[in-house]
Amino acid sequence: MYDYLVVGSGLFGSVFAREAKNRGKSVLVIDKRNNVGGNIYTENIEGIHVHKYGAHIFHTNNKEVWDYLNKYIEFNRFTNSPIANYKGELYSLPFNMYTFNKMWGVVTPAEAKEMIDKQVKEAGITTPKNLEEQAISLVGKDIYLKLIKGYTEKQWGRDCKDLPSFIIKRLPVRFTYDNNYFNALYQGIPKGGYTKLINNLLDGIEVRLNTDYLKEKEKYENIAKKIIFTGPIDEYYNYKLGTLEYRSVRFETELLNIDNFQGNAAVNYTDRETPWTRIIEHKWFEFGKDDNGNDIPKTVISREFSSEWKLGDEPYYPVNDEKNNKLYEEYKKLSMNEKNVIFGGRLGSYSYYDMDKTVEKALELVKEEL
Ligand code: FAD
Ligand code: UDP
Repeated sequence: MYDYLVVGSGLFGSVFAREAKNRGKSVLVIDKRNNVGGNIYTENIEGIHVHKYGAHIFHTNNKEVWDYLNKYIEFNRFTNSPIANYKGELYSLPFNMYTFNKMWGVVTPAEAKEMIDKQVKEAGITTPKNLEEQAISLVGKDIYLKLIKGYTEKQWGRDCKDLPSFIIKRLPVRFTYDNNYFNALYQGIPKGGYTKLINNLLDGIEVRLNTDYLKEKEKYENIAKKIIFTGPIDEYYNYKLGTLEYRSVRFETELLNIDNFQGNAAVNYTDRETPWTRIIEHKWFEFGKDDNGNDIPKTVISREFSSEWKLGDEPYYPVNDEKNNKLYEEYKKLSMNEKNVIFGGRLGSYSYYDMDKTVEKALELVKEEL
């Protein structure tokens, strides 16, 4: 009999397991995949740490979370500065003075603001009602048409007029020359990859892979005094109230016999015609931007294709619209009646948590539970 069975070896489960173990509890971690780490798992291909389930850049303003993770891994100084490729024209992201200069030839913040104001006025938008109007009122029509419309419609599979405006507000708009994508005090990629971070967290803890809790419930449901379940909450209840929806992404990964494919970790393809949304070149997360001359003549790239999710696909992004949030609340009510099962993590809480939020939530549970 263990004190805790942790279902899922993602970031949430691994932090909880570590803290339980540190407090003298006996812990068993199981995962249905054949690797630990959930979606932050990095696979070593030719010495390159490949982000197998999508590019992950750690960023946070939470010092407690940053300090916590730094006990288990050293981070490099990677700063995310993706490039937008619109039919061969390259622009800096997020939208900043470099973007405005390339788009209009303007040099000062005042000139850039004047240009945007002029385009907003021409579009006649006063109160933005959807993503299209919100985007135009933030950065003007030219940037909307070249850098936002195509990308967003590919990513969400819907017209920008039918999407909520808050999606675009996540991106910073800066009137400084600063290509840093995130407004975060702390940012970086674990040296040695995210899998190393997870392995360090799970050091000395029993882990069983290829083990699906829901398929082997009889064997595992009484193996511990308490269960921390980090899989999809609706799947736990066999979808009896309905299915929660996700957005899915398909990755096409290639190993190339060249040392440098695109010169940057992330290049977004912002036109509508290119079928992928972006290409990730994984080595540039790890080695930073400075080629130190010790490079290997290999590189791994992943093209990302956004797709509709259907039952059985890998659940990536919770949709979190009104309909789905309502259904989640119903499942949450059910979960409150469980005496020895606690739901957590991105899938267990049906919330789009970035990694820092995931760690914050796991540490909150540790405080409540332990
Ligand atoms: P998960 O990583 O999903 O782990 C859940 C685990 O439970 C999985 O390993 C799964 O196999 C296992 N499991 C599920 N059901 C069962 C079962 N029945 N039995 C046994 N095991 C089970 N965050 C950032 O901060 N920066 C980024 O750049 C970023 N990029 C992202 C890109 C993508 C494409 C995605 C999808 C997410 C991104 N995130 C990013 C968010 C980040 O991935 C999450 O915050 C974090 O991985 C959540 O950890 P978790 O443990 O809750 O969930
Ligand atoms: N976006 C865009 N062009 C880009 C990058 C992002 O139009 O080159 C839009 C897109 O609608 C996206 C939103 O900005 O959904 C937020 O971007 P973020 O990188 O946060 O997207 P995520 O992949 O995290 O949803």
